[in-house]
Parts: sequence; C-alpha cells; structure tokens
Amino acid sequence: MSKIIAISNQKGGVGKTTTAVNLGACLATLGRRVLIVDIDPQGNTTSGIGINKADVEYCIYDVLINEVHPKQAIADTGIENLKIIPATIQLAGAEIELVPTMSREIRLKKSLALVRHMFDYILIDCPPSLGILTINSLTAADSVIIPIQCEYYALEGLSQLLNSIRLVQKHLNTSLQIEGVLLTMFDARTNLGIQVIEEVKKYFQQKVYQTVIPRNVRLSEAPSHGQSIITYDPKSKGAEVYLELAKEVITYEQAAR
Ligand code: ADP
Ligand code: MG
Repeated sequence: MSKIIAISNQKGGVGKTTTAVNLGACLATLGRRVLIVDIDPQGNTTSGIGINKADVEYCIYDVLINEVHPKQAIADTGIENLKIIPATIQLAGAEIELVPTMSREIRLKKSLALVRHMFDYILIDCPPSLGILTINSLTAADSVIIPIQCEYYALEGLSQLLNSIRLVQKHLNTSLQIEGVLLTMFDARTNLGIQVIEEVKKYFQQKVYQTVIPRNVRLSEAPSHGQSIITYDPKSKGAEVYLELAKEVITYEQAAR
C-alpha cells in the first residue's frame, strides 16, 4: 500500500521543502521506495536534490498540462530508492492555464494513480499559496503534513489552510486526513520556541509529531550543494532528527493498519 502525503502550508519559509527533501531521503534510507513531487514553481526541491533544471526533459508541468505520462517525468536523485518528478519555472503558468480546463482539480490525482504502485511514499512539496496547484495536491493526497515554524504568530494563517483542507474534504477528497503537524526551526535558546510548541500542541493535540526539528546550519547549507542532509552530513543533528521523523511517520502508518 502506498501513501501520498502533501506537505503544505501557504506560508513561505516554514520548512516545507526542507522536509520534503530530507524526510524523503530518510524514508528512502530506511528502505522505503519514495517519490518526491515538486509542485512549487520555484523548484527548490528540484535544485535542492541536485537536479539541474536546464537538464530537465519533462517536469510536473508537462504531466499536468501536456498529459505526459508521469513515468516519463520521474528522475533519479542519486539516492537509492528516492526519485523525483521535478518542477521548473514553466509551472508558474500552470495556475492560469489550468483554470479553463476540464477536471482541473483532479489532474495530479489522476496522474499519480498511474505510478503510485511503484512507491511506498509519495511526498508532494506544495507551493506557498492555496491556489489550484495546492488544491490539486490536497486532492491527490491521502494526508497532509503541516510544517509550522516555531516563531511569533506561528498559528496565524493556519485557519485558511484548515479551511482549504475542509473544502477539499467536502468536495474533492472525502478521505483526506491530517497526517501530522511538524514543528520546525526550533531554537532551544529562547523561551519563545517552547511557548509556540505548547500553543500548537493545545490546538492540534496528538497530531503534533514528537520529533521537533531544531534550527541546524547544516540543514540550511545542504540545498546549495544539491544534497539531502543524509548525504551532505549524515552525522549532523539535522540528519538525526529527520531520521527520527521518518521513523515516526512509518510507526504511525504501521499502527494505523
Ligand atoms: P518552505 O519550503 O516552506 O518555503 P524551506 O524549507 O525552503 O521553506 O525553508 C526556508 C529556509 O529556511 C531555507 O533557506 C532553508 O534552508 C531554511 N531552513 C529550513 N529548515 C531549517 C532548519 N531546521 N534549520 C535551519 N535552516 C532551515
Ligand atoms: Mg518550498
């Protein structure tokens, strides 16, 4: 059984891409077959995993708009068990190009249905908006991971995301669930981080992952080397915590079965 997880929060800079790349790499390290789908026109996941966008033949845009078979868009990452469907800046046009098309909200779902049997986990790295690309992701997904940055106003704007999730549940994907809430960029030196954790736990309760991702310089350096933390610095704190998160994700899934 494969599981499709959207990593979503319309706020930028909360750790969506960092989580997609490193959770993906850690799940793959633990022997799971993983596909990361980059559906953010910025394509940070694509470059962060070491793919040169100029060399991309087919990207997620071609899958969504030009009806290219998703198999043709799947690329290797250099990590065993980890594949990616890349995004290039072409995707920026998709928000507009999808508007007048038939079944525009279910295009990703239909495409991923053709390849999901090849993977244990498909992680979708969403753009920082609640537009049609995010709606496609929530419609295609079995569940959502919501990364929340440990900072002031951490919960601000979340009601819009939860509202979009409810709308998708009502009209497009009745079985969509919240997989988990992930606290990111925690700074142990401040009281603020601890307050934010308490606040988020009060709101989301047992949905909050026990693993909290701290600020870690190695995590922020890895993408500029086109590497996940597992290959860039496997002994770092960043690698340790994302591996912990991957184990938590697997444990929850086994418990749910
Ligand atoms: P998003 O995809 O939500 O916009 P990113 O994952 O790109 O967020 O993270 C935003 C920035 O913060 C990036 O420069 C990234 O390298 C950095 N970053 C993310 N998580 C951490 C972390 N735990 N420690 C340090 N830097 C981080
Ligand atoms: Mg991103």
